[in-house]
Amino acid sequence: MFCTYCASNLLENAEICPNCGVRKFKVLNYCHNCGYEINPFQDMCTSCGIILRKSPKGTHPLAPALLTFLIPGVGQIINNQVGKGFLCLFIFIMISVYILNNLIIGFIIVGLPILIDAYLIGKKCYERKAVGKWEFF
Ligand SMILES: [Zn+2]
Ligand SMILES: [Zn+2]
Repeated sequence: MFCTYCASNLLENAEICPNCGVRKFKVLNYCHNCGYEINPFQDMCTSCGIILRKSPKGTHPLAPALLTFLIPGVGQIINNQVGKGFLCLFIFIMISVYILNNLIIGFIIVGLPILIDAYLIGKKCYERKAVGKWEFF
């Protein structure tokens, strides 16, 4: 990851850049993902296509996990993985309704991994890591 102020290389878990001393995402001069120069009015990096977050906090990862607990796949949609979210919902319905005919067992077999996935992908989004459209866990 790159310092958003001076574009020097940062460790993933660094909060403050050792080169310029500026906190991550405080000033957006460069893309955090690829180090490309950006202007503060851009929403998306023109070089790598990642969404540039302006607010220091995104959606808490528990939000997609909780929604997925109610309807499997919704958390994935909130995490901006729309196709994957609908696929998760489809698989969940197919297995628990048509194959097992039991929502509780279906939830344990299919719903739980979907829930964990929604939480872990949500956590990556929250930490502003690059997440692919079909990335799992
Ligand atoms: Zn810096
Ligand atoms: Zn970029």
